[in-house]
Amino acid sequence: MKNIPRFVVDKMLGKLAKWLRILGYDTFYKNKISNATILSIANSDNRILITRNHFFKKRKHQIKIIFITKDNLKDQLLELNNEIKLSTDKMFTRCPICNHKTTQIDKEYVKDIVPAYVYQTQERFFQCLLCGKVYWAGTHIENAKKFIGDFAGLS
Ligand SMILES: [Zn+2]
Repeated sequence: MKNIPRFVVDKMLGKLAKWLRILGYDTFYKNKISNATILSIANSDNRILITRNHFFKKRKHQIKIIFITKDNLKDQLLELNNEIKLSTDKMFTRCPICNHKTTQIDKEYVKDIVPAYVYQTQERFFQCLLCGKVYWAGTHIENAKKFIGDFAGLS
């Protein structure tokens, strides 16, 4: 079985971290975190560091590091896709907020949780097993798929 990469993303790349989670990748991200902690997490947890911080260029590390140079989210995803072939196979299996696994839940269950129009128009719902947040495969997700699917060879 192919090893699915796990990531730790530095604090300057919050949007990218969120998208990696939407794609289903186990992605450690905190907006307040020291460089030392980032390195120690990458090391002990065997995560690939994604960063645009030149601090990490200065020294030798045992860990794999991918440097991001672009400012725009889509370009950043393309940069990453050049280094590691990103996959959409596990899309929406992870909570973008807390990085925990989600599970598909019955429509009946979310009747009192989601807005009425969402309940009426959507069929597939997912819930985070940790924070309880509910997601649905609506237009937002379709747009996300389209956005991601624009990458060459990514489907
Ligand atoms: Zn969550």
